[in-house]
Amino acid sequence: MNHSTATEILIVGAGMAARRFAEQLLERVSEPVRVTMIGDEGRQPYDRSRLSELFLGVAEEDLSFGASLFDDERLELIVDDRVLRIDRRARTVLTRSRRIHRYDTLVLATGAYAARVAIEGSSLPGCFAYRTLDDIEELREFVQVRGAELGRDLRGVVIGGGVLGLEAAGALQAMEVDATVIQYADRLMAAQLDGTAGSIVKRHLQARGITVRTGTRATRIDPDESGAVTAIEYQDGSFQRVDVVIFTVGMQARDELARNAGIDVHPFGGIVIDDGCRTSDPSVLAIGEVASYDGRCVGLTTAAHEMADVAVARMLGGDVSFSGYDESAAVTLAGVEVVSFGDALASTPDAVDVLYADPIAGVYKKLVLAEDAHTLLGGILVGDASAYGALRPLVGARLLGEPSSYVLPVRG
Ligand SMILES: Cc1cc2nc3c(=O)[nH]c(=O)nc-3n(C[C@H](O)[C@H](O)[C@H](O)COP(=O)(O)OP(=O)(O)OC[C@H]3O[C@@H](n4cnc5c(N)ncnc54)[C@H](O)[C@@H]3O)c2cc1C
Repeated sequence: MNHSTATEILIVGAGMAARRFAEQLLERVSEPVRVTMIGDEGRQPYDRSRLSELFLGVAEEDLSFGASLFDDERLELIVDDRVLRIDRRARTVLTRSRRIHRYDTLVLATGAYAARVAIEGSSLPGCFAYRTLDDIEELREFVQVRGAELGRDLRGVVIGGGVLGLEAAGALQAMEVDATVIQYADRLMAAQLDGTAGSIVKRHLQARGITVRTGTRATRIDPDESGAVTAIEYQDGSFQRVDVVIFTVGMQARDELARNAGIDVHPFGGIVIDDGCRTSDPSVLAIGEVASYDGRCVGLTTAAHEMADVAVARMLGGDVSFSGYDESAAVTLAGVEVVSFGDALASTPDAVDVLYADPIAGVYKKLVLAEDAHTLLGGILVGDASAYGALRPLVGARLLGEPSSYVLPVRG
């Protein structure tokens, strides 16, 4: 760091990774710094991972992290502006409001776009992403206005049956919109669950009145005479009447700034980083969902936070490294606990499964063990996740008792 004057640190993006980076840096740095954070959302960072709680009665203000970070006079937050270009030679960025900001270190924390399926009609009024507070506000307003216009309950389709899709289906139900989830894969939460677990989760959702169609692809969305969504067509030629469509089919890293500035971007998207969150330009760091580590970008708060921590530590001369993605998921969907951790899909050669399934009660527990039948590699728990606390720290270690004792129901 420059010892004579304050070092200029510019963060592009004002989301989860950006906030964590600024918080950690200002807490730990002892030398003079000036931090500028530029975000295009028009508000302070908020907890994106809790967006669905807005449909459970949580207020928008409760998603905020509190203002205290922004009371620090070393930090300036600029909202409702967007960085359009990086000039690496001059070490400046240009924003939509035509302002130029200088940096010594640039931190790219621009997150990702919600992807949409490229089918006819995917941008019609009534089609939504599920990523930002603005998306949620627009969705709510549309449902209210459209419901009043049509004078009946609305019908909604969520395209994408991952965790986010199932949260979105719950959101539709909370707004009294009839909900159908369409999943191209043969099971729900295909990245986290095996076939049996996926079908048990499907039964839980159906018991809650959510329709689930797996192995199905939407091919077109049709407008009515007002131009708004009215029907959806599937690959088998069938149609369904629908008023609201939500896309939850994955994300696309917002890597265009880096790409246009000649910073290395992965062919599948995302700014390439090393385990210190450095990009191909030594003055530019990338953290969070926009960063491609080991060839992948992943949408997980834990990863965004760890990258922010590593980037700060490295800037301050530390020697820590990003440990890689931990894609464990522990969520409650339609009132049902669903946990997937470690090598849940048993991709390790010669892995052994220990299973307990009761589809009628909606309970499924699977431990994935190494060839020795004692070392825990991962697992899946649906409907009863009480063993998760004991199992999670044991991944990579020997279980403390008989494997079956972790999955069999305790007889009272
Ligand atoms: C509904 C929902 C639920 C989720 N639930 C979970 C969960 O339970 N657990 C979990 O681990 N993860 C969850 N996630 C994922 C998690 O929220 C993300 O991984 C995390 O937000 C990534 O942080 P980030 O800072 O990289 O991106 P973001 O939080 O998206 O922040 C990026 C910010 O940069 C802004 N920006 C982009 N480009 C520019 C530019 N050029 N100029 C200015 N600003 C720009 C964007 O508008 C955005 O505000 C969830 C996500 C969603 C949408």
